[in-house]
Amino acid sequence: PSLTRIIVVSTISGGGLIAYSEANASYGSNGSAAVVETGTKKKKVVLLGTGWAGTSFLKNLNNSQYEVQIISPRNYFAFTPLLPSVTCGTVEARSVVEPIRNIGRKNVDTSYLEAECFKIDPSSKKVYCRSKQGLASNGKKEFSVDYDYLVIATGAQSNTFNIPGVEENCHFLKEVEDAQKIRKTVIDSFEKASLPELSDEERKRILHFVVVGGGPTGVEFAAELHDFVTEDLVSLYPRAKGSVQITLLEAADHILTMFDKRITEFAEEKFSRDGIDVKLGSMVTKVNEKDISAKTKGGEVSSIPYGMIVWSTGIGTRPVIKDFMKQIGQGNRRALATDEWLRVEGCDNIYALGDCATINQRKVMEDVSAIFSKADKDKSGTLTLKEFQEAMDDICVRYPQVELYLKSKRMRGIADLLKEAETDDGSKKNIDLKIEEFKSALSQVDSQVKFLPATAQVAAQQGAYLAKCFDRMEECEKNPEGPIRMRGEGRHRFRPFRYKHLGQFAPLGGEKTAAQLPGDWVSIGHSSQWLWYSVYASKQVSWRTRVLVVSDWMRRFIFGRDSSSI
Ligand code: FAD
Repeated sequence: PSLTRIIVVSTISGGGLIAYSEANASYGSNGSAAVVETGTKKKKVVLLGTGWAGTSFLKNLNNSQYEVQIISPRNYFAFTPLLPSVTCGTVEARSVVEPIRNIGRKNVDTSYLEAECFKIDPSSKKVYCRSKQGLASNGKKEFSVDYDYLVIATGAQSNTFNIPGVEENCHFLKEVEDAQKIRKTVIDSFEKASLPELSDEERKRILHFVVVGGGPTGVEFAAELHDFVTEDLVSLYPRAKGSVQITLLEAADHILTMFDKRITEFAEEKFSRDGIDVKLGSMVTKVNEKDISAKTKGGEVSSIPYGMIVWSTGIGTRPVIKDFMKQIGQGNRRALATDEWLRVEGCDNIYALGDCATINQRKVMEDVSAIFSKADKDKSGTLTLKEFQEAMDDICVRYPQVELYLKSKRMRGIADLLKEAETDDGSKKNIDLKIEEFKSALSQVDSQVKFLPATAQVAAQQGAYLAKCFDRMEECEKNPEGPIRMRGEGRHRFRPFRYKHLGQFAPLGGEKTAAQLPGDWVSIGHSSQWLWYSVYASKQVSWRTRVLVVSDWMRRFIFGRDSSSI
């Protein structure tokens, strides 16, 4: 039956807050107004965030028993993997975004509020939000919304590590607006450097582009910028010739440490050939208006003049999530801990997914122990190195992040042991200690960073998984034992979330991309670039953005990139 929506707006005395309820049978928070029920009562799902996780949840939810209230400061979904392309005009900003109101199934009742949630109150089942717009004639901007189920998908924010001057002087690359600002700043720098009466030194400073962070985003941006400069800008700005410099600062010993060694080596060599100055082991300590200070591992401090800095060193927790974690006793964590069904630990009817959440590794530890016990076939309490290696392979398939950590040498002892396993003589060894060491390394890794990678791939898979759980929730409540095929699971009526790693790309410029696909399959070059084009075209959220992105790529091939400073 169709549902009549009535909005209740009332003021909480003293709090100065407006209570907004859009449910079919509910009261404003001060109980001042009732809403007439005109249909079957739907469960109200409040979804915070319109990024990869939230959008995937919305796209896949297919049960008319819910009404979904989306709350996000952004009324669109942004295809973040193409943001580095937006910084140089390879792809236009509007080609990578889709209005959130276009997303979702017709049979699910959805509505959207453009606002930011600043407080989650699990005891009253309410979220408190702030809009940029004034809501009422008195200009109030805050309101509350109640929920039956809360889905938190607010992502993360750029991490400055509280280094002085970063916030004020650096560009970030997280949102579409950031990419647009970078594009304008790059072109403005070339215009500025072309003005008369500039000293060579000043021109060089203005055209010195510094990228901080050698992860996939920083590397891709540096590569895009290099292509933009060499293919488009240098011929248009003859005065800039010879003065442009791109520098990449990375605190670790290598760039792209989460990729296979072959990719890291190729990328470092390619950048060196392209004239991109990669400074490894350089830790930024301070950023001033015109220069950036970095310290090498040997303690040497240098001050580098710059024109523009792009800061891309990873992600941190949003204030609303920090506050919520404190409330529920998770204040010492970096991300919201959930169980394997994405339910926030210690809360009822609250789910968290994507970059703001992490699956608590208690279950991971249980799995790891079970895998090692299984490997110990004769129950002697010892394993051969070969058996240990097989168990590790099993763990890496289940938890691809372990493999990435092994490669990035965060678990050096275990990596050495695996190397030793190649010359295994078959004798049994008591490697209990090593297993314990491995588990403790794993738990340290997990308390510091998210166990699953903070990627669109994880967020999208979690969104789709949670939508399926919601679709079947009612059926499962009616039949708590679940279908026969599920009864063996015992702990819960749904299968736990399992991440499938489908591989990762690192575009390196000059129409060359590195691809690392499951099974350690590595490919670098033009063919992977074509694979990258086809995967990213196919992953677009709508046919509209797919057509726009592909036509932008064609436009760039034919006419080059646009260098207008708008
Ligand atoms: P997001 O996509 O960040 O979405 C968060 C949403 O929450 C946004 O809509 C935001 O507006 C909203 N929000 C924020 N605060 C609040 C609040 N207080 N209340 C309500 N809503 C709020 N991953 C890959 O797998 N492959 C790639 O190639 C890749 N490339 C990337 C390139 C760049 C430049 C960047 C920045 C990221 C890239 N990623 C990539 C990572 C990927 O984008 C993230 O892992 C993914 O966006 C996480 O999804 P999410 O839904 O958790 O968060």
